[in-house]
Amino acid sequence: ASFAHFNFDELLMKAIRKSEYTQPTPIQAQAIPAILQGRDVIGIAKTGSGKTAAYLWPMLIHVLDQPRQKPGEGPIGLILAPTRELAQQIYTEVKRFGTKVYNISTTCCAGGGSKYEQTKALKEGAEIVVATPGRLMDLIKSKATNLQRVTFLVLDEADRMLDLGFEPQVRSISGHIRPDRQTLLFSATFKKKIERLARDAQSDPIRIVQ
Ligand code: AMP
Repeated sequence: ASFAHFNFDELLMKAIRKSEYTQPTPIQAQAIPAILQGRDVIGIAKTGSGKTAAYLWPMLIHVLDQPRQKPGEGPIGLILAPTRELAQQIYTEVKRFGTKVYNISTTCCAGGGSKYEQTKALKEGAEIVVATPGRLMDLIKSKATNLQRVTFLVLDEADRMLDLGFEPQVRSISGHIRPDRQTLLFSATFKKKIERLARDAQSDPIRIVQ
């Protein structure tokens, strides 16, 4: 497999070359074409598989394809992650490829961080938001942001989000987003609870195993 198969533009290809990635990882090779086609995907993959880039690169293309965010509007792309640490790692990747390459605005809203600062960043504009589910719910309740413009949703490490007790928040967030959005779910395991969440949050997903 080669990155050329994805037909990414030269800006993104340059950034990928600069990262010294020589070829797509297996999850990237399988998931990216399906995501670019607009399909919902269940990716069974662990940290270290390259799953972040597998959903992030198509997400950037999706966001660039939409009208830019206007003042007062919420994010276009939303990534939910179980922990502050993972959210920060994802946010670093979003800045590396989204902001540096395409000038897409982004912010990270994780539990433990300052709600005041997060509210300020959301109000200043963030086309891609990386968040933990509990904190995002708090910020929605306080009207710091809204989910009306979300058309691309990622549930990263979905099994860990459920293990940590975030199922009500994940379901509530998913239920507030327009049903015709694209939804990607990544999980290290595929148990009954994940299967049920996928059934409720996704439409006709393709399952890809790393
Ligand atoms: P992740 O599984 O998304 O946490 O990624 C694990 C690590 O692999 C991160 O440090 C990425 O920067 C790196 N990575 C992502 N895609 C590739 C690739 N195609 N080739 C080599 N490394 C990669």
